[in-house]
Amino acid sequence: MSTKKIIYLDHAATTPLAPEVLERMLPYLKSDFGNAGSIHTKGQSAKNAVESARRKVAEILWCEPQEIIFTSGGSESDNLALRGTLKKGDHLIISAVEHPAVLQTAEALEKEGVELTKIPVERNGILKVGKVQKAIRRNTTLISIMLANNEIGTLQPVREIGKFLQKNHPEILLHTDAVQAGGILNLDVRHLKVDLLSLSAHKFYGPKGIGVLFAKSKVKLKPQISGGHQENGIRAGTENVAGIVGAAAALDLAEKNREKESIRITKLRDYFIKKVLREIPKAQLNGDPKIRLPGNANFSFYGVEGESILLRLDFTGIAASTGSACASGSLEPSYVLQSLKIPHEWLHGSIRFSLGKSTGKQELDQVVTELKKIIRDLRELSPLFE
Ligand SMILES: *Cc1c(COP(=O)(O)O)cnc(C)c1O
Repeated sequence: MSTKKIIYLDHAATTPLAPEVLERMLPYLKSDFGNAGSIHTKGQSAKNAVESARRKVAEILWCEPQEIIFTSGGSESDNLALRGTLKKGDHLIISAVEHPAVLQTAEALEKEGVELTKIPVERNGILKVGKVQKAIRRNTTLISIMLANNEIGTLQPVREIGKFLQKNHPEILLHTDAVQAGGILNLDVRHLKVDLLSLSAHKFYGPKGIGVLFAKSKVKLKPQISGGHQENGIRAGTENVAGIVGAAAALDLAEKNREKESIRITKLRDYFIKKVLREIPKAQLNGDPKIRLPGNANFSFYGVEGESILLRLDFTGIAASTGSACASGSLEPSYVLQSLKIPHEWLHGSIRFSLGKSTGKQELDQVVTELKKIIRDLRELSPLFE
């Protein structure tokens, strides 16, 4: 293990497990190892922990405990929301900037006979509600629009879409991938007016491999994993008790600090954005400057390669990302940035910084100093930049 102090600015990829959360999980990895399906005391202790976690999550989402399904993560929740509700001949509407967990699932379903409409976003990364309204057809049964984008952080008008549906098409279900918003934005499902919502614990200082799907009781979900009767018969498999306890504890902890932390991080983000744009020539911010996640700053630097910036940042102990963890490693610019119609010379030099609990002003100052040097060096080497 490295001992060098790392400046971690990749919270959108994953967050470290909060020590308080680990403490809450440990008993279920040690003495309280029972199967929540067992009749005996150890089993009942596990069962109680799972049900108490379910009530806690339901409280934060303002829904009923039986409307909470624990899954293996955000990807499974998204898959269950789409595959569990759609059948051949149905029409599905998504945004063009959905996470691959929604996008790829939607495209796979299209091959199986589901009609698919992808709504493009505007240059600021935000979807126009009117375009969603116009896309609705006679056979539209599900609309899936993310609450916040994982690459550029822009927030989508999910509540406005929900309001419109409630008034005009109450039969159409609304799903939101809220994975980037967990512990950061208000997750009140009555306020958001959604029927389905996905979360993943490792994005809010909980453990990896555990997710949540909220599904309103009226939604009849077709199980995607069959077997035992766990999770109301919707998702078979012995409960991940420690993971479930950890997810609820992490969401609870995040919720308690949410408003205060959101103000702190928004201020830091705006300070950082201003400083980068002021000190580095030919830099631009991607996505809407205000309607974005508190911790997201995604920049393009003209005439340089994002991957080269990343490697050099890493060498100085700074962890960032080119955008989607899934897209990095490939030379093709991300589909999210492409959908913003950013000119080609800017498209390849994109970097996402995502701030979190450990971020302070001092770290950000240090990042700007390093970034400035790195961009200058790379441009000196680049044939694109005179
Ligand atoms: C991380 C992420 C996912 C996938 O969650 P996993 O728990 O890693 O499967 C889905 N959607 C969005 C928006 C994400 O950021």
